[in-house]
Amino acid sequence: MIMIKKISKRFADLIKKDTTIKNESVKTMIVIRILILTVFFYFIVNFLLNWHILDGRGIVISCLYVLAFGVLFVSSYHIKVRTAATIFSIAMLLFIGLNLQWFGWWVGVQHFLIVLLVLEFFVGYDGFRTKMYIAVLICAIRIAFYFHFHNIKAIYEIPPQREDFLQIMNTIIIFWCISLISYVFGKDSRALEGKLVKYNEELEREALTDNLTGLANRRRAMDYVQQILKESENRNFSLCMCDIDFFKKVNDTWGHDCGDLVLKQIARIFKENVGNGNMPCRWGGEEFLLLFPNNNGDEAYDILVTIQNAIKQMVVEYEGKQVRVTMTFGLTEVDFHNPIETSIQEADEKLYYGKNHGRDQIVF
Ligand code: GH3
Ligand code: MG
Ligand code: MG
Repeated sequence: MIMIKKISKRFADLIKKDTTIKNESVKTMIVIRILILTVFFYFIVNFLLNWHILDGRGIVISCLYVLAFGVLFVSSYHIKVRTAATIFSIAMLLFIGLNLQWFGWWVGVQHFLIVLLVLEFFVGYDGFRTKMYIAVLICAIRIAFYFHFHNIKAIYEIPPQREDFLQIMNTIIIFWCISLISYVFGKDSRALEGKLVKYNEELEREALTDNLTGLANRRRAMDYVQQILKESENRNFSLCMCDIDFFKKVNDTWGHDCGDLVLKQIARIFKENVGNGNMPCRWGGEEFLLLFPNNNGDEAYDILVTIQNAIKQMVVEYEGKQVRVTMTFGLTEVDFHNPIETSIQEADEKLYYGKNHGRDQIVF
């Protein structure tokens, strides 16, 4: 087990080892090296399977091919990745032509052309036009191979069973090569896409959330109002404007940071007590809008009593001091026949009525 781990680690190091050329794409290099190695071992297996039907010339050429791909692998540490890819593609083209001539059309080696096509699109640094030219060229070679080879007799006759085996082996190797290229090159874009989606969600959340308190901001509250209004007009819908009493004094006495702490703790009380489906939002400064899309005024009033008491009992510890505040609330039921702004204004007027009549109260 340890042995296998060691070998696979050494293999991974070998594949990932940098080229001596600077600024090369690691990803491309890894793909090219794995492809070269794959084909290298494929040649060996191919040779071992067929050597007994080859003549002297066939054996020499096969050995040369194995050797050439071995050399190409070693030189991939010293040459540009693009060069290695080009040599690989040309050698593969020659191999495909030669193999078709030797073993015939039905062994399926021509499908390696698709590997070259995919490789060109993912690996090539060429522009779109060059890629298209190369695609057309590969397509033309494929068609030419078909007309030239599919009816001529192969030089070396392979027994039908062996032909099936070679066909299967070629298919597996070709699928492996294409999957490898697609996986390695698709991986980054998939990761990037995932990151972008997350980033967008975050941006959207930030654009709709108040930084300090984590409550919905005015924009999100208005979006929610529009959604509520669109859903149904036959519902109870109440809203409340509220504002901290003498908040300026908190800032003036204890400092702005203390004021921020008070805002955060009030926001927490809202979140904990406002109830499911209801939305507290920071309307601006120390003013909040609470939306109750499923409550009539009386029900919302009861919730506000709980909130008002929780805020009264809230003690904010700041630098050894205990800070307490109260809030004033203006509550109204939404009239669906008027624009929502009218209801908001009504709640605002009630809030200021409360401010002018002793604060720390709910005006309904
Ligand atoms: P009232 O009872 O009439 O509402 O009195 P008030 O002092 O609360 O009202 P005023 O409008 O005079 O003061 C509001 C203060 O809220 C002034 C402003 O500095 C403070 N404020 C607004 N936003 C923030 C904030 O994000 N953090 C802090 N610490 N203070 C804020
Ligand atoms: Mg205030
Ligand atoms: Mg105010």
